[in-house]
Amino acid sequence: FDTMDYGPAPESDSEARLWLARHADGFGHHIGGRFTTAAAHFDTAEPATGKLLARIAQGSAADVDAAVAAARNAQLDWQALGGHGRARHLYALARMVQRHARLFAVIEALDNGKPIRETRDIDVPLVARHFYHHAGWAQLQEREFADQAPLGVIGQIVPWNFPLLMLAWKIAPALALGNTVVLKPAEFTSLSALLFAELAVQAGLPAGVLNVVTGDGATGAALVAHQDVNKIAFTGSTEVGRLIREQTAGSGKSLTLELGGKSPFIVFEDADIDAAIEGVVDAIWFNQGQVCCAGARLLVQEGIAEDFITRLKRRMQSLRAGQPLDKTIDIGSLIAPSQLERVRTLVELGVKEGASCYQPAIDLPAGGCFYPPTLLTNVHPSSTVATEEIFGPVLAAMTFRTPDEAVALANNTRYGLAASVWSETIGLALGIAPQLKAGVVWVNSTNLFDAGVGFGGYRESGFGREGGREGCYEYLKPRAWAERRQRVAANAANIEPAA
Ligand code: NAD
Repeated sequence: FDTMDYGPAPESDSEARLWLARHADGFGHHIGGRFTTAAAHFDTAEPATGKLLARIAQGSAADVDAAVAAARNAQLDWQALGGHGRARHLYALARMVQRHARLFAVIEALDNGKPIRETRDIDVPLVARHFYHHAGWAQLQEREFADQAPLGVIGQIVPWNFPLLMLAWKIAPALALGNTVVLKPAEFTSLSALLFAELAVQAGLPAGVLNVVTGDGATGAALVAHQDVNKIAFTGSTEVGRLIREQTAGSGKSLTLELGGKSPFIVFEDADIDAAIEGVVDAIWFNQGQVCCAGARLLVQEGIAEDFITRLKRRMQSLRAGQPLDKTIDIGSLIAPSQLERVRTLVELGVKEGASCYQPAIDLPAGGCFYPPTLLTNVHPSSTVATEEIFGPVLAAMTFRTPDEAVALANNTRYGLAASVWSETIGLALGIAPQLKAGVVWVNSTNLFDAGVGFGGYRESGFGREGGREGCYEYLKPRAWAERRQRVAANAANIEPAA
């Protein structure tokens, strides 16, 4: 995947602009293999400039109903295709993503405000890998999940921070295992999902297998409430996750929730300091800190704290903010003015609560939702900035004396998504890791995502896993006994059972 060109010129947006121009009258929803004509639209802007990017359809309950009907209509044939048949489609989707990697990367950078270097090197390659990986599971399905059947029609709701990657994490396992999907992207970032749906049809995906209905939270709520959806898979805020859990309770729908976080980044005295500082940069300034598993709480052992903070501040001065299509930037735009305001307010509150705020004097482009990389020190563990998910480029630093104190501080959170431990004494790091209440723990690294490893949280970070074998089980249910007996008998007689 590493064929990127880092020339000084910004990435060309001409192909993306052509695609957007083709939909200049406004996008429809993508239902049953084609774009619908939508009754109502809202504007979506480039967060880095505030300029209008496209007009997106606001989905109604009737649109959701049409999409669920299309998915239901397609489901039995999709299931009957069998694992090998579906694997061919997933491989085709993976190759489609690779073939259009540049277009996807540019659309994602424009729509979200994140640096093109991230969308081209991280988001899009990980999307392709996710489809390749799940093509493998589809191929193995009859052997590895013989007693399991698909759930049926899946409603999937994703956030704006990794629009295409979250789409992949959701739809790849669902489709691989014989389900059909209605996906609702976040209202700020609908474009890559619409592009994906359009190109998926060109790549041969049967109509109705993947449907995209755009719109705000009301559209999501209509999908959650729909009677003919077998499961809701949600990634987003803990607040909305809680609401969805209440709404689906007693409905018979399956549910997985991938929610917020406030992950600790723990640095011991014997850590490789240079590597740990680069780790911090990646942990909290990747995607402007709008990452569910961002290392938002820096916990440094006292003996090195002063030196570490001094070196971190120096490193912060070399970060570059700029337009998303500039290949040389580290920091892009936040998603929207509302998010910028939220980050500002929380940092001001942190200072009021006693924290010291450091922001390097770097240039920020005018006109967009830019916020500088921010380091808060003298942070009290119970203060708002140490406990609330800020979801921005803001690091709250604290110190500890002993390993036990590090564990206690790290676990002093209502979340439990991720954690990162830095020490050159591998025994120490591996001793700490299992004591951390987090779905994933990285040792001397951070933000590593692998399609083969289940990702997900504990406590208020939600439940369920995405990726790997455990992620597959989230889209399967035990087969009915009668069906199992029929399969056993068919296997004994060496004949194919009816689908
Ligand atoms: P959000 O909860 O506001 O929105 C997420 C999605 O839910 C959007 O598509 C939105 O339109 C929809 N939605 C809003 N209200 C709804 C309702 N009542 N019913 C159904 N759907 C509704 O979250 P966000 O601001 O888009 O995303 C940021 C959050 O997502 C952060 O908290 C972040 O930590 C979390 N996140 C978690 C993971 C993970 O894997 N755990 C990954 C990425 C982001």
